[in-house]
Amino acid sequence: MAKKRILLKIGSNTLTKETNHISRGKIEDIGMQIAALNDKYEFIIVSSGAIAAAKQFVKLESNGKEIIVKQALASIGQPHLMRIFHENFSDLGLLTSQCLLSYSDFEKEQSKVNIVNTINILVENNYIPIINENDTVATDEIQFGDNDKLAALTAVLLKVDLLIIATNTNAIYTKESIHNEIPETIPLVNDLQLLEKEIGDSKSSHGTGGMKSKIEASAIAKEANIETWIVNGLKDNFILDALKNNIPFTKIK
Ligand code: GLU
Repeated sequence: MAKKRILLKIGSNTLTKETNHISRGKIEDIGMQIAALNDKYEFIIVSSGAIAAAKQFVKLESNGKEIIVKQALASIGQPHLMRIFHENFSDLGLLTSQCLLSYSDFEKEQSKVNIVNTINILVENNYIPIINENDTVATDEIQFGDNDKLAALTAVLLKVDLLIIATNTNAIYTKESIHNEIPETIPLVNDLQLLEKEIGDSKSSHGTGGMKSKIEASAIAKEANIETWIVNGLKDNFILDALKNNIPFTKIK
């Protein structure tokens, strides 16, 4: 039977477990789940964390050039991020590769063909492509989104079966329950317009998207009939538990 293809998007908040360091434990947790699901699922990862990785090693003065300094930090941090993935995943027998993409690549026919061909060969050979925005040439996701939209564009282009976006809450809560301070997860969303009314403009500490960019990403996926699951990536085993319906998370159909 053909394997199902999952695109897993991991933001900086998940990868750092909301600290100032990339969490090797979180990367290992993700790797162990991918290894456990290897028979039935193939994974493509869209990961942020380059800037967060650089900040462990260097402090650059921004002097009003905040975005440009973030681009430079992403350049410094990306190889470290990939090294940490490689070190942890290879211990689990998983192979990793790096792909850097930007929105404009999705507007050029030849680039799209090249992306699909490259990633398909990687996956056929059991490599897990780890995608990030090419922050030297683009600043879209640094400014807003933390790779949520990039993940959705990639999910559509690669015709994945499921888009999983990791976040740092138990997915999307009802407005009323937040108001009452007992957050309750919305398990299923069919109407995104109704959902948008439930969502505020929340932003996260490391990432730049908050829930808004996740909803926008899920709308892109939905257009292509791809289901999006928003899942609390801070929890151990979040992918396995979501697949077994053992944790609260939000499905956008
Ligand atoms: N591409 C950036 C990174 O990997 C995204 C930064 C962000 O907004 O968290 O660090």
